[in-house]
Amino acid sequence: ITIPVGILASLLLAWSVFRIAKTRTAMPAVIKSALKQREFFLEYQPLVELATGRWIGAEALIRWRRTTGEVVPPDIFIPVAEACGLIQQISQYVAKQFASEAGDLFRRYPGFHVGINVAAADIHDEATVLMFRELAAATGAGRNNIIVEATERSFTDHSRAATVIKQMRQEGFPVAIDDFGTGYSSLAYLERIRFDYLKIDKSFVDTVNTDAATSGVVLHIIEMAKALNIEMIAEGVETELQAQFLYEQGVRFGQGWLFGKPMPFSQLLEGLEKSMPMANHQADS
Ligand code: C2E
Ligand code: MG
Ligand code: MG
Ligand code: MG
Repeated sequence: ITIPVGILASLLLAWSVFRIAKTRTAMPAVIKSALKQREFFLEYQPLVELATGRWIGAEALIRWRRTTGEVVPPDIFIPVAEACGLIQQISQYVAKQFASEAGDLFRRYPGFHVGINVAAADIHDEATVLMFRELAAATGAGRNNIIVEATERSFTDHSRAATVIKQMRQEGFPVAIDDFGTGYSSLAYLERIRFDYLKIDKSFVDTVNTDAATSGVVLHIIEMAKALNIEMIAEGVETELQAQFLYEQGVRFGQGWLFGKPMPFSQLLEGLEKSMPMANHQADS
């Protein structure tokens, strides 16, 4: 029997759509059990000062490796966790996990910064302030050393988000607007909410030194951040040319595969030893 290629292709497509839908609906239960089984862990991506290449901080990024060995990326399971009311449990898990591994990180490197991503539910909930207060106390970090990363797409209720962000800043925690430029009304937020850092989304960094239609946008973002006096962090820097260009335009910090991929905490510490071997002495004196 010969089956036309077209039919075969649509059968295959239907099968994969079915499989994805099946995992999606099963996911809430799977996430719940993964929390119990502690299948989540953190990796840290260096945050670099472009002028010197020094690691001045890191972003904590959640990872999920299932017992089957399958790795599920956060872009897939975070939205599901948000939709089914499990996100706060995940945020607590991340905070606890970080506190448990941070050890004497901040004592040895007093100037180090760690970025923690918060979800939509967190940025609308005043209890998040408490979570960060506890995190600072548990790790011995100065509040100024823990950066709250909130993506602008998560601001559903502007005035509530603004209240929580304002409170975080009053408590001394710097707040970064993440994935800047990817939401619906980036400019409106900047007018209403004060931020400490603006993370230029990778999609704009990608256009540097290309002739893509959007390649001029990154310059406008930079100009605006300068006018508002917000420190910038470029995300997803992959080439020396991008780093050079951004630095010349006045972007102070960067993150990306050029400098380092997300890595286990132990590896971050090893890198820090090499990058800032003097920090020990500074902390001791
Ligand atoms: P994000 O906060 O914007 O994090 C940056 C993402 O870009 C990370 O993806 C990182 O691995 C990736 N990245 C960094 N540099 C490069 C590069 O040079 N090239 C490429 N191709 N990618 C790069 P990841 O770890 O998959 O995280 C995706 C998103 O999931 C994060 O975006 C954040 O929104 C969310 N997320 C991660 N961890 C957490 C968490 O603990 N809590 C919450 N609520 N969300 C999290
Ligand atoms: Mg982030
Ligand atoms: Mg981002
Ligand atoms: Mg992102």
